[in-house]
Amino acid sequence: MAFEQLDDIYREIILDHRRHPRNRNPLERADISADGLNPFCGDEIHLQIALADDGPVSEIGLQVVGCSINQAAGSMLTEAIEGKTLSEIDAVSALFQSLMAGDSLAEEDRDRLGDLQELEGVRQFPVRIKCALLAWSTLQDAIDDHRRLPK
Ligand code: ZN
Repeated sequence: MAFEQLDDIYREIILDHRRHPRNRNPLERADISADGLNPFCGDEIHLQIALADDGPVSEIGLQVVGCSINQAAGSMLTEAIEGKTLSEIDAVSALFQSLMAGDSLAEEDRDRLGDLQELEGVRQFPVRIKCALLAWSTLQDAIDDHRRLPK
């Protein structure tokens, strides 16, 4: 799909994240790290998270290779999880997956998603939904692994 065809699903917030990705520097010390791959599109992400005393997310490092939606969605994820605890992240992640699955969400749930709602337009292009979800599914797998680690 040509980049121009995506213009109508690209709202300002998404374009801004695409042009100025947030939290892109690798971390020296990470509590959680994960790699994700979407072979259908060639998207790859590497995600690191540092936790403050095993509580909220204090630092995030995300490196992304691949399409614009993957890059923008990854950057948006880093802003959405900053300062949140892992269980708060679970909740946002579940809401975001519902949004992308086309479920109807309550107004308060939409408010909790904030800017992430902008990615809803990607649903018009079903092959791109995986691109928007890659960072979230990678994060969720990494959090699950982290929880299985002995304390
Ligand atoms: Zn992609």
